[in-house]
Amino acid sequence: MQSKIWLSSPHMGGNEISYVNHAFETNWIAPLGPHVVGFERDIKDFLQTNKEVAALSSGTAAIHLALVMLGVSAGDEVICQSMTFSASANPILYQGATPVFVDSEPQTWNICPEETLRAIEDGIKRNKKPKAIIAVHLYGVPFQVDRLREISNHYNIPIIEDSAEALGSTYKGLQCGTFGDFGVLSFNGNKIITTSGGGALVCPSVEAKEKVVFYATQSRDPQPHYQHSHIGYNYRLSNVSAGIGRGQMEVLADRVAARRAMHEFYVDLFKDIHGVTVFSADESVSVPNYWLSSILIDADKTGGKTREDLRLFLDALQIESRPLWKPMHLQPIFASYSFFGSGVSEKLFEDGLCLPSGSNLSDEEKGRISAAITTFFSN
Ligand SMILES: *Cc1c(COP(=O)(O)O)cnc(C)c1O
Repeated sequence: MQSKIWLSSPHMGGNEISYVNHAFETNWIAPLGPHVVGFERDIKDFLQTNKEVAALSSGTAAIHLALVMLGVSAGDEVICQSMTFSASANPILYQGATPVFVDSEPQTWNICPEETLRAIEDGIKRNKKPKAIIAVHLYGVPFQVDRLREISNHYNIPIIEDSAEALGSTYKGLQCGTFGDFGVLSFNGNKIITTSGGGALVCPSVEAKEKVVFYATQSRDPQPHYQHSHIGYNYRLSNVSAGIGRGQMEVLADRVAARRAMHEFYVDLFKDIHGVTVFSADESVSVPNYWLSSILIDADKTGGKTREDLRLFLDALQIESRPLWKPMHLQPIFASYSFFGSGVSEKLFEDGLCLPSGSNLSDEEKGRISAAITTFFSN
């Protein structure tokens, strides 16, 4: 049987193992240690920012601690982009707060500024001004940063920038992860670089980072005994994982270039296929990392062929593809919460498909993908 072509698989650079070996040789196996510090510095350098980076155990933990830092607690409302991975929204529930979901706009597939305004005004009318806005750079394509920042400033509502999929993407020349009041990164196994599991929170100041690290290491007050005056979390990244991360940071620029080349590959592959559009950003504004390349299939123009037909066809050929994120307001666990929108994300979910996008796909694998897709649309 043919080997499976995955949507997005880990891609080591080679030096990760020497950092990990160093951790073993020096017995920095317990959390913390020099790689954590080094990894945070590498990320900060890459982001070219004055902000501070706290390495954590996951992107989900980073979102959770951003909410804690912003004082989100039981009964508060938090606006969240509906079309995203569930990890953007779950931490709202961890805090006992209430998500208010907002639709996408068709340009970037991300949070719609106009619907965000409606959601804020509605909250204010009910005396429930939202405590934060969680906005996501889906598939590495930046949301409308300037417009959302205007709204955030006007209403004085902080932005949690979920940049889990967008490390290496830029908006107006600046790195994603640096636009929010807090910025979230993920190093999960399927992301553009990985520590096997991990994340980071980009913090506005040294003090904020220190607070985040305090919460992430069980909120231990400065006492000889264990003393706690705040809820603690076990959310810090380990020194071993950070060692992998340091090796991955050495190759991040290559990984971004390779993912962008995959996007070009699909643009070229689909240029003569009627009814299929490859999701692309306006590159005069933003340069995406194209973490996942994705397409929309208009079945009215493909002779009735749907995204599900293509997915099943590829699956039979051992090629993984996946529908776009199913919007949160359509998920059973979140269905009871309010939603502001007009069907944009539903339609994207119906017509959209993510295609194999890894930075490590071989020419042979790209050939298989190309042949499969050409065959599918030619008969
Ligand atoms: C992966 C991802 C997360 C969560 O990151 P983990 O490190 O897996 O916890 C959050 N938001 C989005 C949009 C993601 O894609």
